Amino acid sequence: MASSQVSCVYVIVLLLNFSVSVFPGVVKEVATSDLNDFPLISRDGWHAEPSANQKLLKLPTPYVVIHHTYIPKACYSFEECANAMRSMQRYHKSSLKWGDIGYNFCIGAEGTAFEGRGWDYKGVHAGRANNHSIGICMIGDWREKLPPKKSMDTLKALIKIGVQMGKIREDYKLIGHMQAMSTECPGTALMAEISTWKNFAQGKPDFAQISSISN
Ligand SMILES: [Zn+2]
Repeated sequence: MASSQVSCVYVIVLLLNFSVSVFPGVVKEVATSDLNDFPLISRDGWHAEPSANQKLLKLPTPYVVIHHTYIPKACYSFEECANAMRSMQRYHKSSLKWGDIGYNFCIGAEGTAFEGRGWDYKGVHAGRANNHSIGICMIGDWREKLPPKKSMDTLKALIKIGVQMGKIREDYKLIGHMQAMSTECPGTALMAEISTWKNFAQGKPDFAQISSISN
């Protein structure tokens, strides 16, 4: 098991380097030390289909919305997580007609971040909140237990990089999907955890009003 874990890490590092060279826009102005905090896999890295729906987000976004997927279940290897990304994209793009995977980013239980719509394009994940947020999903069902620490550390690092890149406001508000829509997402356990984080905002923001002010 140990040797397969080592080779997996090596593959992910290679893919990270690949993503940096192929998508300079995704990672510009980010210090190398921050990039090395976690692996970030570009769309090419997980063999995404091209997006058929790209609307620019107004940046920096004032909100970050956290999700779980419920299905697909938690993934613990690069291949499992890349498969989960492709299956979500197929479902969101072809069955739900959203044009692409709904989330801006997803994170696997083993701690790898995957680029969905990315920093610059509006996601389809939380109704009216889509216009004002980066939507990040933790792949798996996190109603009764928390994602592993490694993946929660990746979540924190991803948000931090988003702020450093000017994609997320420095004074951003962190919420769970259930604060924007009627849903159990991101699951009781994950919701309880993020509600202890510094930027967490209590209550249910009125995104209809926020839209009317900012447009
Ligand atoms: Zn959700």
